[in-house]
Amino acid sequence: MHPSPEAGPIVGIDLGTTNSLVAVCDAAGPRVLADAEGRQLLPSVVRFVRGGAPVVGHEARARAVENPVDTVHSAKRFMGRGFAESAPAAGGLPYALVEGPRGLAAFGVGGAVVTPQEVAAQVLGELRRTAEASLGVPVRRAVITVPAYFDDAQRQATRDAARLAGLEAVRIVNEPTAAALAYGIGGSRERRMQPETIAVYDFGGGTFDVSVLQLVPGGPDDGEFFQVLSTAGDTRLGGDDLDEAIIALVMGEIRAQFGTALDFPPAARQALRTFAERAKVALSAAESTTLEVSLGGDRTYRRTLSRAEFEALAAPFVARTIEACRRAMRDAGNPEIDRVVLVGGSTRIPAVRAAVGAFFGREPYAALDPDLVVALGASLQASVLGGGRRDLLLVDVVPLSLGIETVGGAVAKLVIRNASIPTRATEMFSTSVDGQVNVGIHVLQGERELVADCRSIARFELRGIPPMPAGIPQIEVEFLVDENGVLSVTAAERRSGRRASVQVVPSYGLTAEDVDRMERESFAHARDDMHRHRVVDLTANARLDLKWIGDALGRVREQLEPAYVEELEAAMMGLKGHIAAAEHDARAVDANAFQQAKEALDRLSIRVHEVAIAASLRSAGAAR
Ligand code: AMP
Repeated sequence: MHPSPEAGPIVGIDLGTTNSLVAVCDAAGPRVLADAEGRQLLPSVVRFVRGGAPVVGHEARARAVENPVDTVHSAKRFMGRGFAESAPAAGGLPYALVEGPRGLAAFGVGGAVVTPQEVAAQVLGELRRTAEASLGVPVRRAVITVPAYFDDAQRQATRDAARLAGLEAVRIVNEPTAAALAYGIGGSRERRMQPETIAVYDFGGGTFDVSVLQLVPGGPDDGEFFQVLSTAGDTRLGGDDLDEAIIALVMGEIRAQFGTALDFPPAARQALRTFAERAKVALSAAESTTLEVSLGGDRTYRRTLSRAEFEALAAPFVARTIEACRRAMRDAGNPEIDRVVLVGGSTRIPAVRAAVGAFFGREPYAALDPDLVVALGASLQASVLGGGRRDLLLVDVVPLSLGIETVGGAVAKLVIRNASIPTRATEMFSTSVDGQVNVGIHVLQGERELVADCRSIARFELRGIPPMPAGIPQIEVEFLVDENGVLSVTAAERRSGRRASVQVVPSYGLTAEDVDRMERESFAHARDDMHRHRVVDLTANARLDLKWIGDALGRVREQLEPAYVEELEAAMMGLKGHIAAAEHDARAVDANAFQQAKEALDRLSIRVHEVAIAASLRSAGAAR
């Protein structure tokens, strides 16, 4: 039995300690909804105003410094907890923790006693309004996520918060379960009768937890797909600690450099914190960043912080998370881990990913935005409960071909449509420009032959290739689509060993209608597309031939018979004519004539290459 569609959509909500999100899964797949300003993350912060309506989200967080005593953040830590057990953790909070009804923890803010449920209800209400504005229909039901370690009282408090916000919590789902669902793990239990074990590593701004889950084969139709084997973590460990470590370094150096016993008033500390976080985030993408603090007068503190230095600062914190992983694994009976899923903004740090991968002996899943993954999973669970499109989760085959862009805007397909998964494919590529040290890899999906007609799903760069002539580097591109439809693309240059990779979930945002349409279009344009692809490839190869022949001819022209040189140059001119025509209008080009001209030049050029090679061997010998 499914609820009737008139009941409206069921949304998925990630009710977080720091930020909250709402997502929906409809015909277009799962997506996080944005507010009128385009923001997806709502700060879980509420300011209570005496005699007025509470202020929720961005505004409350932005003005928290001015209204510290009436602004509640991190209310989630106190959901369903007793006052007595919470009091020790309340030190350092700017707002007052008080004893609420039935001995539960509550807050004394805005001249009233406010429960954590009431704070959460404000956040949920705001998310509900965002969803209604975005979807244009009333929203009354939600799947809400909670940490795996939440007990019954904490889960009940979450349900109560939803009710206060006018939402029915149709299911409370564990955050790690939602994260796994977002990757399609457990989505099609029919295919998977062996148990599968998943580790979910969640490293956010203020908290860390890790869960070991086991997929329940053939579980109840709409029930939890996973059983939690163990959890471990630290509710006081997060990205904030890494910011603090940078601040401590900077303050120490400022004191050493400027000698004075500088004191840092709260506003200055706040500014330092923002600046430390920015440096940390920059180092996830760059190898180094510049720290610069103006200290008034003509005093400026400036230094470069390298990724390696930051990693050294972060190492003790990362080690603590790995220690927790070890505890969770031990409590779960040290099972073999089949998959590792990353959640939380701090998992964008390359050293964190590397440490997690090394500990579990598995490359972690990182295709989805770690801030959105829990909300996306909640929306998938919601769509299953709402009787929505179950089939979105079922991906047994690759629905559309996958490939990469090659010179001239053609697509080289590596994985062909309907390949059953898991599947793996590799192909060799090279550079098209002399001395090229970076290569952009553009990953595409679709049946058409040219980039412009396919769907772009990812881009990344392979950097640091040693400079070599065009066409010499050997770049192996590997596509791997695993059992869950997660695509990993890796590019590796053979000689230097440089590698780069990206992960994506190609089925996201793709509906059955899209797949049908793209397939129909590919049939309709098949002839034309094939022709254009052939011309694009011919053009790219002909250019490279002309370049090589031109280089060789430049070196050994004097050693060749004038008649041969004349014939060769005429053939080169002819091929250039084909290239110019192809650039003007690829459709009008006679591809057979183009190809014959290219092959004729190739045959003719054997001599100039032979003479050039002999000449360079001679000069190498003379030099020795
Ligand atoms: P969350 O609680 O999941 O929203 O995670 C927020 C934490 O992730 C904060 O400490 C952020 O500074 C951190 N964070 C976000 N993006 C990055 C990044 N690219 N590199 C390092 N840390 C990040």
